[in-house]
Amino acid sequence: MNVLLVYAHPEPRSLNGALRDFTVARLRAAGHAVQVSDLHAMRWKAVLDAEDFPEHQRDDPLNPSRASRLAYAAGTQTDDVAAEQEKLRWADLVIFQFPMWWFSMPAILKGWFDRVYAYGFGYGVGEHSATHWGDRYGEGTLQGKRAMLVVSTGGWAEHYGERGINGPIDDLLFPIQHGMLFYPGFAVLPPFVIHKTGSMDAQRFDATLQDLGARLDAVAHTAPIPYRRQNHGDYLIPALTLKAELSPGRSGFALHCERPEDAGATARNSDVHNAPALSSPVHS
Ligand code: FAD
Repeated sequence: MNVLLVYAHPEPRSLNGALRDFTVARLRAAGHAVQVSDLHAMRWKAVLDAEDFPEHQRDDPLNPSRASRLAYAAGTQTDDVAAEQEKLRWADLVIFQFPMWWFSMPAILKGWFDRVYAYGFGYGVGEHSATHWGDRYGEGTLQGKRAMLVVSTGGWAEHYGERGINGPIDDLLFPIQHGMLFYPGFAVLPPFVIHKTGSMDAQRFDATLQDLGARLDAVAHTAPIPYRRQNHGDYLIPALTLKAELSPGRSGFALHCERPEDAGATARNSDVHNAPALSSPVHS
């Protein structure tokens, strides 16, 4: 496989730095081709602004989505953004590795998504009509590729459990895994989360490498998280609400994962709701 590792930690001698080196070595030893986007080493520009759009007239108000659409279509994006998009096209698997900072990803990685996921690449893709609300949530530019998060946290596993004060880790990662990876088409593998990093000792470090190695060895055939695809009959269009007969009585992010008891509850791909056609694609 071609594997892209998008990595966000400022210190190469950190725990994350050691895990990154281990990951690259393990994947290469297994015969995979690996590229690393080390965002701090690259001095990645984290902020999307007018400098991203050389064609934008400085006196005009900046509409980021419009400017992104025009630059992507005209091939006038900045070289750093175009290079990352090319790496994504090349990759069969993309691993995003980062420490959890304020219950999310570090800003430099968020800025990678803001800038690399251009209009026409990461969103605004495909037919927008009464029956098909764009190629997204399971369809899109990155369909056919796999993605996986490798995340370290200071908090304990219990703090991120079902009743933990931080909230369940699957919920905290939902906006990333569902909103940023599944949205443009990735099949999202279960995350690899390293908790309680403040008390990591040599023994746990070795055990962590063993567990991570096993996950990396299995990436080609690990079952993805069964997120529901937008255009396959589970959602009403254009409301984009889950049909009432699916997961009745349930709520929360877990609604958007397929459940065995849903089989046969609805006619996928057939009974979409009529709605007027949209005049332009939206990202919402
Ligand atoms: P390091 O600090 O580099 O290492 C952690 C420990 O691992 C070290 O003390 C050492 O014992 C061991 N270690 C490191 N390298 C090796 C090695 N090569 N071999 C053996 N042992 C090693 N945590 C949360 O849970 N939720 C949050 O919302 C959150 N927000 C944060 C916000 C900010 C701005 C910051 C700075 C931290 C936050 N944290 C949070 C904590 C953060 O997630 C952890 O500090 C981080 O995940 C640890 O990863 P690291 O690579 O920086 O570890």
